[in-house]
Amino acid sequence: MSATKATPTEAIAMTYVITETCIDVKDKSCVDVCPVDCIHGSDDDRMLYIDPSECIDCGACIDPCPVDAIYAEEDVPPDQQAYLEINRQYFTERQAARRRVDELRPSLGSDDVRSVGSAPSAMTEGLTPSPDTTLRRALP
Ligand code: SF4
Repeated sequence: MSATKATPTEAIAMTYVITETCIDVKDKSCVDVCPVDCIHGSDDDRMLYIDPSECIDCGACIDPCPVDAIYAEEDVPPDQQAYLEINRQYFTERQAARRRVDELRPSLGSDDVRSVGSAPSAMTEGLTPSPDTTLRRALP
């Protein structure tokens, strides 16, 4: 009888990856089903992250995700490839991972607040401020 060789898939270390649709959703259904508790994220995070050193590649987290954010590493779509590194980076350089997420998907709330608060002086010249005056951004 001849010796059996390891198949290519046995030689590749795989993990699962959380991608962009998790941002600002964080449903956490995946956390409930993960048998090794390797999906992490705090209130300061806009998304959840899978620790590649703990994930056992069972795939249990894929179906419960309501926004289809989780992929096997080899199946991550081309436009989501950045999240491969971001999931890893979160466990070594947390702030850098958070900044990368903000770069890829800027938070809506902070920009809106800033644009209202920095209205050009031409909009306010000649106006007499009163307690009832509310500066509102013009809608298109
Ligand atoms: Fe957890 Fe399994 Fe999903 Fe890995 S594939 S994050 S072990 S549920």
